[in-house]
Parts: sequence; C-alpha cells; structure tokens
Amino acid sequence: MHVDVIVIGAGAAGLMCAATAGSRGRSVLVIDHSPKLAEKIRISGGGRCNFTNRDLRPDCFLSQNPHFCRSALSRYTPRDFIALVERHRIRYHEKTLGQLFCDDSSQQIIDLLKAECDAGGVRWQRPSAVSGVSREGDLFRVDTDQGARFAASLVIATGGLTVPKIGATPFGYRVAEQFGLKVVAPKPALVPLALDPDWLARFGELSGASFDSVAWCDGPEFREQTLLTHRGLSGPAILQASSYWQQAGGREALHIDLLPEVADAESWLQTARAGRQALATLLADHLPKRFAQQWVDFEGAGRWNVALAELPRAALADIAAKLKGWPLHPSGTLGYNKAEVTLGGVDTRDLDQKTMAARRVPGLFFVGEVVDVTGWLGGYNFQWAWSSGWSAGQAA
Ligand SMILES: Cc1cc2nc3c(=O)[nH]c(=O)nc-3n(C[C@H](O)[C@H](O)[C@H](O)COP(=O)(O)OP(=O)(O)OC[C@H]3O[C@@H](n4cnc5c(N)ncnc54)[C@H](O)[C@@H]3O)c2cc1C
Repeated sequence: MHVDVIVIGAGAAGLMCAATAGSRGRSVLVIDHSPKLAEKIRISGGGRCNFTNRDLRPDCFLSQNPHFCRSALSRYTPRDFIALVERHRIRYHEKTLGQLFCDDSSQQIIDLLKAECDAGGVRWQRPSAVSGVSREGDLFRVDTDQGARFAASLVIATGGLTVPKIGATPFGYRVAEQFGLKVVAPKPALVPLALDPDWLARFGELSGASFDSVAWCDGPEFREQTLLTHRGLSGPAILQASSYWQQAGGREALHIDLLPEVADAESWLQTARAGRQALATLLADHLPKRFAQQWVDFEGAGRWNVALAELPRAALADIAAKLKGWPLHPSGTLGYNKAEVTLGGVDTRDLDQKTMAARRVPGLFFVGEVVDVTGWLGGYNFQWAWSSGWSAGQAA
C-alpha cells in the first residue's frame, strides 16, 4: 500500500497530525499496535481530560532546548484547540490555574479527533504491530504484521514510556537513533517521589494527609497541594517539582514551604512566643495535626517539644527556615507506572521547530511526547501534542 503520509501512533499527537494532513488532501494511514484508540486521552484528567491550559507560556515546558517549543505553540494555540472543542459542542470548564476539562468525559476528545480524521479521509490500521522502518529510495517502508506500507512522509507519534501496560514503548527513540538523531535520556516526570525508610517511619503512616504548600527544586515554585503517601510524597506541587528534580539529575534537594500563608515565619513564631502554646499546636492551625506533631518530633529531634516561650530565639530562626523551605532528599521516583509524562526524548536540536521534521532526514517527523519537550501538569502536555501534531500535519 502506498500513501502520502504514514503516522505511527494513534494518540493525541498522531491523531491531530493525521487529521491536519488529511484536511490538506493528503492520503494518510495511521498505524497503532493498541486495540484501543488514544487510551491515554481516555484515562487523562481523572476521565475528564485536561485538554489545554488558558495560561500557557513557553516557560511552562522543560527541554534541553527551551526555545524549541515556541514556534509550534504559537502557530497552534490553546485558543485554536478551544475553538475546535466548541465546534464539536463539547462542554468544558476551567478548574484551576487555567486548566480546561471536559464537563462530561474525555471520550469526547477522542471522538472529536476521530471525527476530524474521518473528515480528512484518514485510513486506519490497528491493532497492528510494526516490526521495522526503513528507507527505500525517496519513500519510507514500514513493515507491519499486515504487510509493507510505503509513504513519502513518516510521522513518529509513539509517545513516551509512561504507563507501559497501555502500550507505551521506546519505539520512537529507536527510530530516531536508527536515522542518526540524538535522544535525550528519558526519565519519568510529573511523578510521585520516594523517601527513605527513616522518613517513612515517621510520615508513611500519615498517608492520605495533604496540605497547601509551595514546592520547588532547581526551578520555578509551585503553590499547590502536597500529599503524603505510604512511599513518600505526591500531590500536584510535588509532581510539578519532580520534573525539575529529575532534570537536575535527582541530586538536588527538593524544598517545601509548609506555611505559604505566612510571609515571615520567624516574626510569626516570635509573636506566638508570648502565649503558652507548643510549636506543634501552633502549626496545627496550618497543617494536618498529626503531621505537625511528627514534623516537630522529626526535625527537632525532641528539642522542640516544649512551649514556644521556652525555645531560645536562635532556635526560632532555625525552625522558621525549615518551615519555609523544608529540604528533602528523595531516594527516587515511583517510575513509569505512576508517572504522567516522560522527560527527555528525541533531541530537538535535530528537528525543525516549525515543522517537527528531522533536519537531516527529509520526510521524517516526530511529534508529541516522544520529543524532548515536557509540559507542566495542567493541560500543557496535551497542548504540546496538539501544537506539534498540527505543525507536522501542515508539512507532512
Ligand atoms: C494517567 C495520565 C493522565 C494524564 N492526564 C493529562 C491531562 O489531563 N492533561 C495533559 O495535558 N496531559 C495529561 N497526561 C499526559 C498526556 O496523556 C500525554 O502527554 C499525551 O498523551 C502524549 O500524546 P502522544 O500522542 O505523544 O502519546 P500517546 O498519547 O502516549 O500516544 C502514543 C500512541 O503510540 C502507540 N504506540 C506506542 N508504541 C507503539 C509501537 N511500537 N507501535 C505502534 N504503536 C505504538 C500507543 O499505543 C499510543 O496509542 C496524562 C498522562 C497520564 C499517564
């Protein structure tokens, strides 16, 4: 079979690319090994798909080449995707921090993409295993369990490594390497963090407790909830900071401000000193009570379990510093089974920022999460899938 464009991977980016190329009159074949269409969209956003973010900025993305994402994100913007959602009469709402979710179900976004592909005459081959990709003259040859397929343009949209049980594979990275492109080592990101046994002995039993916080690691600060788990820490603040922790090689300390509402914790403690309260009681106004007590026991090693008035002034400065930037050294992450995205991927220095085409391999494109562009939590990763998929779909 010969077509103009073969897209491998029927996820968010692949479907957007196929629909866009199809709407230009290109003949398009989409191949995916999974029996279910765009399963990651279906499970996203708690079943309601956080499909974009109104407050999108290029600095909400991590990459070895931070400016790369600008072009695609400005050519196909959140406004463009919102217009598409509205054209399909999908009701949506803003949850928090610019994050847009479907009112009803993420299946509606899958149906939208399928309808757009059908309108462009896109053909399907799924489930179907791909055994290899090669170049034959000006064409790409894709060997599948249903025979060889040929196209002038080949789009790799096979995503990252998260959630292997629904079909994630390193296929895209292997194709990139086969054609001489570099790959930035992939790592799980937006991922819960593991803490060591000493820490878990104190805090593990508080699994499920959460609190308002600011978390950061060698990058921007995230004011959101932190969640204690039986393995360590999670919650949106931690997931966001985890990507930067991973980018820094997992060696830097991660910090949590436990008192975001209190600008000057030392003065706050000094003022509270006049009363007879214990530190843990005072902290329980802002933090879960049992966590406050464990924190005082753990960080103060027994010395802080007295009335505030009995603590020396120097101790208050120390306590304030720890409350406003509790340093933690995670022992690792919970890995690809629990991660939302993959940091790293096809090196963007080998790609054209306008079209997602490999600079030195005419007709070969990489879109979506397989590329070394990783968004924050909050609809940024789907917007990258739409923008990069659309950009390649205009050129493939
Ligand atoms: C639990 C969870 C919730 C999420 N929620 C959100 C959210 O609300 N908002 C947001 O912005 N992001 C969210 N994300 C991230 C988002 O889902 C991804 O960034 C996005 O799906 C990436 O799109 P993609 O098309 O590049 O890859 P994918 O959607 O992963 O699609 C890749 C496709 O390639 C196919 N494939 C893989 N290997 C092969 C192969 N060897 N042969 C053939 N086909 C192959 C797969 O079957 C799959 O269909 C979430 C992620 C997870 C895991």
